Amino acid sequence: MHAEILAIGDEITSGQTLDTNSQWLSQRLEELGIRVLYHTTVGDELEPITEVFRTAIARADVIVATGGLGPTADDLTRDALARVLDRELVLDQGALEHIRSLFASRRREMPERNQVQALFPAGSRMIFNPHGTAPGIFAEAPRPGRGAAMVFALPGVPAELKEMWGTVAATLSQAGGGTRVVRHRKINCFGAGESHVEAMLGDLIRRGRDPRVGITASQATISLRITAEATSDEECCAKIEPTAKLIYQSLGRLVFGEGDESLQEAVVRLLAERRLTLATSEWGTAGLIADWLGAVAGSAAWYRGGEVINGADCARLVCGEPGDHETARQMATTCRLRFGADLGLAIGCFPSADSIARQGDTVSIALASAADVRLTTVPYAAHPALVRVLCAKQALNLVRLALVEGTV
Ligand code: AMP
Ligand code: MG
Repeated sequence: MHAEILAIGDEITSGQTLDTNSQWLSQRLEELGIRVLYHTTVGDELEPITEVFRTAIARADVIVATGGLGPTADDLTRDALARVLDRELVLDQGALEHIRSLFASRRREMPERNQVQALFPAGSRMIFNPHGTAPGIFAEAPRPGRGAAMVFALPGVPAELKEMWGTVAATLSQAGGGTRVVRHRKINCFGAGESHVEAMLGDLIRRGRDPRVGITASQATISLRITAEATSDEECCAKIEPTAKLIYQSLGRLVFGEGDESLQEAVVRLLAERRLTLATSEWGTAGLIADWLGAVAGSAAWYRGGEVINGADCARLVCGEPGDHETARQMATTCRLRFGADLGLAIGCFPSADSIARQGDTVSIALASAADVRLTTVPYAAHPALVRVLCAKQALNLVRLALVEGTV
């Protein structure tokens, strides 16, 4: 059984409103073990809405539509649904009473126009909307030679949609939709590009594999998402475990954590495990590392603080004439002592923030401990919107690796 989500409304197709309903609905359907294969978005026009309903009914078993159930002339979902089902719209007295009572509780007369919200395609059912005037619609759409598709139309207002989801979930569970369980496990890594990571994983990303493995890159962090479908939580976990092991074996130290844990959270966790404190000195990243580490819950005990340098003039004040590697080394050593920390991390000698990075530009990163200073250079090569994030993550990753390897 798989599903399609229809987001209906000019505000979505024109880009004025972000379609958060489709995201939310996909997550809920997946929790019920129903895979979502299509998201379709359509503007407020009768013919196109009718067409997307027709297509969805032909290719999905469950269709959840949102939007277009209001009382105005641009709300066309109920008309489109009636046309696709080839049924008349009939008045539901109970729904009308509910809409009237909502207006009465707001001490307002119900406008004539709102009566359309009590119209339902014959044979469909109302989905109760306790706090809104737009009830939802549940209809079964017969399909020749196979079972009917289940169509749910819900209002676009996210709060109302969420409140009404319980009714939809109950209907789907009764129909056997909830008998499958879908579980995910996300493994996060940093230090190699997406295609490099994929190559290291052999055929794990292959379509049709069970469990499925998806790969996504976000801000230079690569995540592998394992998805298993089975009849119980335990069965899902049992299916996921060997694949997770394979990923750990293939990627080794590239893996820094799982789930929602960010690289900076992993670093704070490791600092706490080793009972070591850290200070930072950042040139060119505008304090990105300080900001990230400072925001990690409980980080104050392990992250002591940092200094932010924004340009060569300032660097000169902090560490004399800025050179290349030497600057980063000095910055790391100085901030470690100044902040009384076990470790000092520095990003030094950044190419000018105002100039476009040139081919071959590099940034130096240094990690100082009481025993020594380790230095590394990373290419200053990424999209301008990403380069600061990439440098900051490279620096955090140097700390992480040193902590994991026990070399500091
Ligand atoms: P409607 O039910 O089409 O009258 O939509 C009512 C309001 O809900 C719209 O004005 C939007 O602010 C919001 N909305 C509609 N569709 C979505 C969607 N797919 N995601 C998030 N918000 C939406
Ligand atoms: Mg609308």
